[in-house]
Amino acid sequence: MKRLLDNARNFRHRVAPESETFRRFAAGQTPGTLFISCSDSRVIPALITGAVPGEVFEIRNAGNIITPFDPDHSCAESATIEYGVEVLKVKDIVVCGHSHCGAVGAVANDSDLTSLPSVAQWVSSCRPALAPMLGTPPDDLTFSKYVQRHVVAQLENLRTYPKVRAAVDEGRLNLHGWYYRVDTAEVLELDELNGVFNRN
Ligand SMILES: [Zn+2]
Repeated sequence: MKRLLDNARNFRHRVAPESETFRRFAAGQTPGTLFISCSDSRVIPALITGAVPGEVFEIRNAGNIITPFDPDHSCAESATIEYGVEVLKVKDIVVCGHSHCGAVGAVANDSDLTSLPSVAQWVSSCRPALAPMLGTPPDDLTFSKYVQRHVVAQLENLRTYPKVRAAVDEGRLNLHGWYYRVDTAEVLELDELNGVFNRN
């Protein structure tokens, strides 16, 4: 823990010696991208993308899950999406799933989550989209297909948000699906037209 605190205290010297870089943040933020990824410690959006402070607005949760829009129930994700799209006016939203994801794995493997009731309830929202694939526990290769299907489902859920749908329809917002391999650091991007994740 001490190393993390020491690094945090040295951050301003390490990353941006000119204090002007931070001073301008007092005026606000204008990130162009909302990046939605898992809480997994192996997935670090700024490190992977090379984003600098002020560039990327983030949602991180177990399994990079976006539940469908519900006008009667707000949650951290819905509030952050609303703020990002309506106030910050991000131009892109990325949903980034990853290999070896515990949340998707729990659904794919039908894991016993009796002792983790909050996790059980949270990941259960992934089940409908993955249902057609469930049955035999996946191996490493087929598991990537589960995660990629999961990413597509979260993009579909994003489109249930009126503000997202309106911004997409008006051409001022683009949605993207990524798949990140934690054991190779490889990134695949969804080609929505053909329903495949490509390396280039
Ligand atoms: Zn994960």
